[in-house]
Amino acid sequence: MLFDDLRGKSALITGASGGLGQHFAEQLASYGVAVTLAARRRGALEHACAKIIASGGNARAIQMDVTDSASVAAALSGNCFDILINNAGISGASRALDLGEVEWDRVLDTNLKGVFVVSQAVARGMKAKGRGGAIVNIASILGQRVAGNLSAYAASKAGVIHLTKALALEWARDGLRVNALCPGYIETDINREFFTSAAGLELIKRIPQRRLGQPQELDGALLLLASDAGSYITGSSIEVDGGHLVSSL
Ligand code: NAD
Repeated sequence: MLFDDLRGKSALITGASGGLGQHFAEQLASYGVAVTLAARRRGALEHACAKIIASGGNARAIQMDVTDSASVAAALSGNCFDILINNAGISGASRALDLGEVEWDRVLDTNLKGVFVVSQAVARGMKAKGRGGAIVNIASILGQRVAGNLSAYAASKAGVIHLTKALALEWARDGLRVNALCPGYIETDINREFFTSAAGLELIKRIPQRRLGQPQELDGALLLLASDAGSYITGSSIEVDGGHLVSSL
């Protein structure tokens, strides 16, 4: 059966203390994957793990700041994973003329350097184990088209899409697949309120399907890229966006 190979595998999900990362961890756990949830806030991670364990899943938490390679090395030392979901990310919203170096670094360090640092550490373990692996980078449609006041975010996500291809090329011979999932606007706790405002409702009108996506609508693409169902897919990006990228110019 499709996705059966996931049972018994192990996965690391970054930024899993809430939002999409927590949802991805719950989803993979429901397919029998032993999930390790990583983020900076231990309390929120423990809470997310307890929820998975209460539904019969196998979950544990590790505290990690993806912008800090020493923190990543310490957290991952001695761990091997079959699947990595690079989900940790932040946005920031400033006009380019007002965007300070601190914000630029924070966004690029989290969204782009973080993906590289964690991928490198996990890929070393995957290669040593010799069983291959699947890496899924959560990018964004803003890595393919732009919107106002999000220059750092858009540049970081475009970088993630290109990094995905570069890593896919280098690691294919070791049986590692590296792909990107590019969500459009997905309703989560952090944006729910904005999308009830006038600006938010205006934005929804520009999505061809005229609605926000729900986290579970990313599951098909996530499971495809993480499992053997996607065994010949590497270096690809899959957009899940209600047609937002093909909206009329
Ligand atoms: P969120 O803010 O709810 O979740 C982000 C997670 O990343 C949190 O758990 C946070 O603690 C973690 N994180 C942030 N900085 C970190 C760091 N330095 N080290 C470790 N963890 C860190 O946001 P979300 O909407 O769930 O977004 C998840 C991912 O999906 C992000 O990469 C985001 O860019 C991407 N995305 C989201 C949407 C959307 O509409 N929600 C659309 C496109 C892309």
